[in-house]
Amino acid sequence: MLVLFDIDGTLVHGLPEGHATAMTNAMRAVWDVPVTPDDVWGIRPAGRTDREIARLVLRGHGVADADIDAANAEWMDLACRMHAEVAHLHAPPVAAPDAAAVTAALVGMGAELALVTGNLEAIGRAKVAAAGLGHQFAPGGGGFGSDSEVRADLVRLARDRAQAGYTDDQVVVVGDTPRDIIAARAAGVRVIAVTTGAHDAAALADADAVAPHLTGVLTALQA
Ligand SMILES: [Mg+2]
Repeated sequence: MLVLFDIDGTLVHGLPEGHATAMTNAMRAVWDVPVTPDDVWGIRPAGRTDREIARLVLRGHGVADADIDAANAEWMDLACRMHAEVAHLHAPPVAAPDAAAVTAALVGMGAELALVTGNLEAIGRAKVAAAGLGHQFAPGGGGFGSDSEVRADLVRLARDRAQAGYTDDQVVVVGDTPRDIIAARAAGVRVIAVTTGAHDAAALADADAVAPHLTGVLTALQA
């Protein structure tokens, strides 16, 4: 079994202020627009990839798609470097209370774990490491917002990068938004949603199962 974990609202709780600050500082530097983290919160970022978030924020400030695409690589690199500089100025990422136990239990069951997150890779891995969970997610695996703007692509990539081959029903996305569910469906795999992020059970009803916390995911997988 391959279990693909979202980060924000799933493995890690709380507002990612250092992350949003790094993204917007880098946007200001690259495109010379007066963006702030409030622009990020304003486009309701939950479940979106970082590149999609940047595009929506920049469009709101009148930047053309061609200009966004032309400097995207520069922005991603700068945002990751800025995150390393500003992360300590903000509240550190906090692991979901049961994240360590649940990831360890899954590994104990023989599952392979990977991240599928809209976060740019260096930022996402830094957040997971700061939350004390980095050892469960091997380098080289997973799918990240730096790989594609489209979340479903990240699920397919994580599957391609897995250490073993898995059939559709052996791959499970764990996430906290309808966008995680849509991405899993587009990639043809299962999805379990948790209500620890911005969405309640009714909003996540299209998942194969909905759980109030990660321990519930473990229960659903063992059922
Ligand atoms: Mg999330």
